[in-house]
Amino acid sequence: MKVIIVGGGLSGISLAHQLEEKNISFRIIDEGINHSTKVAAGMINPMTFRRMIKTWKGDELIPTLLEFYPAMEKKIQNKFFFHRKLRRAFNSQHERDLWMERLDDEEYNDYINPPESEENTPKHLKAPFGNGFLGTPGYIDAKKFMEYNHNYLVENNLLEYSKFDFDELDYEAKTYKNEEYTHLIFCEGFRGEDNPFFGYLPFSNAKGEVLTVKSDVFDKNEILNKKCFILPTEDGDFKLGATYAWYTQDPTPTEEAKEELLENYKLLSSAPIEIIGHEGGIRPAVADRRPLIGEHPTHKGLYIFNGLGSKGYMIAPYCAIEFVDFLNGKGEIDKEADIQRFQRKHFKG
Ligand SMILES: Cc1cc2nc3c(=O)[nH]c(=O)nc-3n(C[C@H](O)[C@H](O)[C@H](O)COP(=O)(O)OP(=O)(O)OC[C@H]3O[C@@H](n4cnc5c(N)ncnc54)[C@H](O)[C@@H]3O)c2cc1C
Repeated sequence: MKVIIVGGGLSGISLAHQLEEKNISFRIIDEGINHSTKVAAGMINPMTFRRMIKTWKGDELIPTLLEFYPAMEKKIQNKFFFHRKLRRAFNSQHERDLWMERLDDEEYNDYINPPESEENTPKHLKAPFGNGFLGTPGYIDAKKFMEYNHNYLVENNLLEYSKFDFDELDYEAKTYKNEEYTHLIFCEGFRGEDNPFFGYLPFSNAKGEVLTVKSDVFDKNEILNKKCFILPTEDGDFKLGATYAWYTQDPTPTEEAKEELLENYKLLSSAPIEIIGHEGGIRPAVADRRPLIGEHPTHKGLYIFNGLGSKGYMIAPYCAIEFVDFLNGKGEIDKEADIQRFQRKHFKG
């Protein structure tokens, strides 16, 4: 097998490590402009608070990432995965009731803890309906993740910085710039929607913006969450995020999103904050909120690994392991993630 990966964000990096694990030869081509993996808050949150249910495959994703990322850290000899508790301030009485229901449900034993007492609730937190801790392993420092992994890949001649040139691809001969490959895997993030082979898939990319703030009040060991989040980083600052906006490929930060974040923050905490940074990115998301993984229906040898959405850091390890097994002929792609689910609509007969 000889694999070329287009895109060195979270998707490409996760696949790279798994291919290396299985001794499969690969190299990555990355344009060097990243608008998601590097900007992300990197939070690992196994719950969807809106309906107070586990996220897609949460029970499988968490144990997988708990092995995958530490193994990656060991290999590249740098740390990017840090423990943090997540404190949820309930939005309403209804949300508190749902939390209490899950507390009695053994399927949620690993995640839901009893509500905190008033004396264990920070004074600045706006939590008239109470609050509770979620069992979560923490967060990935996104900038460190990208920097350390790119350093490792460059040092090992596995990453080249250039834009993939579709005019240089001969997919029938399976060559790119006359170099033979067996598998060409597109991991282009939100730009997958412009891919001439996979652009037919229903991308529903979502712009997100995050502020970096300073505060002397927040606890450096816990993430706060309600309408928005406050996430303590290793640098001693905090991330305040995140917004959602559709139908744009422009990651430039906007005043509107900043105002929205500050309005949401007012519902979470009364602690004063000082804004020291503002970034925007584009999440590669999909209409049905499931990844886009698989081989092109008619052009054999062309693959996509994309659509990780807003919980990419949770999803990537599990999907990368499953996909590499599939490439090795040792398993299937999860039906909900497989692009075959869109095949009938676009490729008749
Ligand atoms: C504001 C924000 C907050 C987020 N917070 C979280 C969070 O808390 N937790 C979580 O799990 N996830 C979070 N995410 C989501 C997460 O960042 C994404 O799911 C994930 O990073 C997607 O990775 P990717 O590799 O698929 O895409 P990208 O990171 O976009 O990487 C794609 C790469 O492909 C390259 N590329 C594209 N086209 C070409 C080409 N033609 N030639 C060469 N290279 C090319 C680009 O240079 C880029 O490096 C957040 C995202 C945003 C924007």
